[in-house]
Amino acid sequence: MGTPETQTDGSVVDGCPRCGWPENEIYQVLSRHLTSEGVVTYTRCACGEVQVRVQPYAAGRVVAASCGSSRDDSAPPGR
Ligand SMILES: [Zn+2]
Repeated sequence: MGTPETQTDGSVVDGCPRCGWPENEIYQVLSRHLTSEGVVTYTRCACGEVQVRVQPYAAGRVVAASCGSSRDDSAPPGR
């Protein structure tokens, strides 16, 4: 327990409840899974505590788009 420590940049550091290991420092990654929610990462702390983290998907930049290939008319495929 203990109050979360607020850093100068505004991010909240919440360490391991058991040993106080900083949450942003991953001791050991056990496994990663892609889910519809995001990336679920199972990590183990230095004290042996297993933690589950969820990293939500962020909307990335569009780097390619197929403009013009999808026509919205009801014409049958011509031949
Ligand atoms: Zn710990």
